[in-house]
Amino acid sequence: MKNKDSKSTGKFDADRMARMVQVFEPMYPFFSKEETEEQDSGICSACFSDVGLRIEAEKFSSQLSQPCPNCKAQDGHRLTIKDCKILAYRFYILGSVQRVDYGAAPIVVFNEHQKTTSTLSGVIGEDARVFEDILGVGFFEYGPNLWMLGETTPLQCLRKKRERPAVIHDILQSYPTHVSQPGDIFFRVRTNPSELTKPEQFDSPPSHIITNGRFESKGLAVLYGSPDLETCIHESRTAVDDLIYVATLDPVQPLKLLDLTHIPENDVNPFESLDIALHYIFRAGNYSYEITRTLARSALNAGYDGILFPSYFSSLRAGAPVFETLWGLPTRSFPQMQSRIRSQTIPNVCLFGRPVAEKKLIVRSINRVHLEQAIYRLRMGPLLNEKIQISD
Ligand SMILES: [Zn+2]
Repeated sequence: MKNKDSKSTGKFDADRMARMVQVFEPMYPFFSKEETEEQDSGICSACFSDVGLRIEAEKFSSQLSQPCPNCKAQDGHRLTIKDCKILAYRFYILGSVQRVDYGAAPIVVFNEHQKTTSTLSGVIGEDARVFEDILGVGFFEYGPNLWMLGETTPLQCLRKKRERPAVIHDILQSYPTHVSQPGDIFFRVRTNPSELTKPEQFDSPPSHIITNGRFESKGLAVLYGSPDLETCIHESRTAVDDLIYVATLDPVQPLKLLDLTHIPENDVNPFESLDIALHYIFRAGNYSYEITRTLARSALNAGYDGILFPSYFSSLRAGAPVFETLWGLPTRSFPQMQSRIRSQTIPNVCLFGRPVAEKKLIVRSINRVHLEQAIYRLRMGPLLNEKIQISD
């Protein structure tokens, strides 16, 4: 596979990188000049043909007070050079990100060093040319670093049954223990229960209905919850007409949890990183559960009461992109980014066995939950690899 990453990131400048990491403006690696960015770009939101891109552009600034000098529209939104940078980054790069089994990468990127070679056509191509003129960039199809697509040593080993135990051993050795104390409450949601009269109904499911899940398997029951109630609602895949109940659970005794929400420092090589491997695994579908079930059994055998792990919905709940990079490296590997990454990591708890029946947890309260309002924050992206042309 082609690797254009070194080109796409431009000349490496350590001082500039340190400054940018401080403020983290993720589109900056794609641009070199910052001096003129508060200037008016001379274009407006109505200069674009694609409706999705116009909707994104209208999120900036206010409407023009006089007609746009470029398209003459009276109702467009003014765009500074900086607005155009953010807009191009959001629409073309974040908007073309595709997820693969383990990982994600954009299909299209741009930079100031290459001429446009991508096959962006139709209105998307016309709009890209507006950015080429204003920002001096070229668009091209991205050849992602292989680690972005999950081609890393720990992940490859974890996917092979015979090589899995050694990496799981490394994980158990490398990750810290979190001790959950009485008072560290968390929530567990149930939808449409046939009856709800006893606290035990919020314990792990009974043996006869346990199927193979992320951590549970025949003979190993698991109770899931989260200190974040909204994450519980997402995790339970609740629908608007469900009857939803939530239990507030409180540890009766200290509980020893393997903390897989921990973000290691100085984790500089993504190809050898356990952190990247786990990050991808907890955002993967049920094809990854064979790995996490082995991990659960190993943690149980190592004396843990359960596992603290990042929710599948972490990015969505935090409003963060699926995956962020800086100069072709995961933002997770920059020590300055730790607090940002932590804020994007929503913890879930899994406890082995039947912790309510075993009196490790007490049910403090059971409540009905009503979904009062759903609010979405959306980002539009281009339609790519598509032959149809949208006529005006
Ligand atoms: Zn205009």
